[in-house]
Amino acid sequence: MDRFPVFLDLHNRPCLVVGGGKVAERKVDSLLNAGAALTLVSPEITAEMDIIISGQNVQHHARLFTDNDINGQFLVVAATNNPGVNAHIASLADARNVPVNVVNDASVGSFIIPSVVDRSPVTIAISTGGASPVLARQLRMRLETMISPQCGELAGITEEYRDIVKKRLPEAQRKTFWEQALKGTFAELVYAGHEDDARRLLDEMLAAYPNGKTMGEVYLVGAGPGDPDLLTFKALRLMQQADVMVYDRLVSKSILDMANQRAERIYVGKEKANHAVPQDKINDLLVELAKQGKRVLRLKGGDPFIFGRGGEEIETLAENGVPFQVVPGITAASGCSSYAGIPLTHRDYAQSCTFATGHLKDGTIDLNWAQLSQPNQTVVFYMGLTGIEVISQKLQAFGRSGDTPAALIEQGTTRNQRVHIGTVATLPQLVKDSGVRAPTLTIVGEVVNLHDKLHWYEPQRHVIASEFSRNPPVEA
Ligand code: SAH
Repeated sequence: MDRFPVFLDLHNRPCLVVGGGKVAERKVDSLLNAGAALTLVSPEITAEMDIIISGQNVQHHARLFTDNDINGQFLVVAATNNPGVNAHIASLADARNVPVNVVNDASVGSFIIPSVVDRSPVTIAISTGGASPVLARQLRMRLETMISPQCGELAGITEEYRDIVKKRLPEAQRKTFWEQALKGTFAELVYAGHEDDARRLLDEMLAAYPNGKTMGEVYLVGAGPGDPDLLTFKALRLMQQADVMVYDRLVSKSILDMANQRAERIYVGKEKANHAVPQDKINDLLVELAKQGKRVLRLKGGDPFIFGRGGEEIETLAENGVPFQVVPGITAASGCSSYAGIPLTHRDYAQSCTFATGHLKDGTIDLNWAQLSQPNQTVVFYMGLTGIEVISQKLQAFGRSGDTPAALIEQGTTRNQRVHIGTVATLPQLVKDSGVRAPTLTIVGEVVNLHDKLHWYEPQRHVIASEFSRNPPVEA
């Protein structure tokens, strides 16, 4: 190991920063965050530095560095723009065995300041030993996305319970207890901001440990329209830790591949005419799995609260006292419109946008056609394929011009995406001619004309197999 990492307690310890420019700003800021009693030596300081130090525990000496400045310091940072001065400060500090950092030059001085992911009290420091500060920053960004912002709170509550757990459980069981708690519902409750529920759960777990079962949790997660890059960080995290996954046919294969490979998988996909698993059975299944103490991932295409029956599923959970979380996903309208280069609103063409279903529970389409046929708006039809004839006729009958541009976006955001452009009048013929299959989204409105100019996503359609589990020409 080239460098030995340590985490210093700087509270009220005297630290010296020499230099008042841009590079010094960041160091001063982080030293102050760590509670240091700072001396800043620099004839001039930036306006930003002035803001950083105002009202803080800082003595600013507006002059050049003198050798005596090092006296009594616990830590020194040389951050002037003069390499000669920095080297001089470093050698003075070294001679007195005071740790010294020279900014932007790891070859001089005795320590380097790492890139930090701060979830205090959890702190992750990354160093490449000065070889590549950019790489260190990139690694830090990756960790930032992977570690919940509430990780610090999690550590805090864990600390609260350390002694309680110590008293309650013999040493041999403690580690397993914490391992289970920290990768399970307890941690998720803290991440979701339910700290009191998390404490209650920990109490229950302690009372029941090691034999009793505690209640699991259901994560109702939107998986987005298909492209795995459109998943949220939270969706990915929950996908990777669930014990069981309940999913249907609108979740793309590439996304399923990213879930915990050891999780049990239950397919409840349904097709319009052939309900594989009726909705109330799915609702009951989720309750039953959670009662077995499992972390249940209910993965839905797009957003669970947009034509996703997410509301119905969590109603049953709420009635049965099963804890749940809802994670929004990018809905098909957002995903498909972006990837087809069709903005849903535009100051010149559409001042509002409506999401409508092209398929109702009883098979009819009973929509407010007068409202949907108004000009200057975009109408997005989900599940519109089988009803396309009715949609086309009704819009025209209620006054929307047959020439209004319309688009069919098939398997939007996936490598199989196809966009078919027509008009309100030609939509039924377009469906026949293009052989388009579900899932397909229909966008109606003048904004569709922008596709010609704004389309940018052109995947090579070498992936012939559908991204979706089955792909009949009926609606998902
Ligand atoms: N909850 C989902 C919608 C479920 S309804 C969401 O928020 O997106 C199912 C309908 O969504 C399909 O019939 C289709 O119209 C649309 N859809 C979902 N994913 C799609 C995709 N990748 N491409 C095109 N349409 C899609």
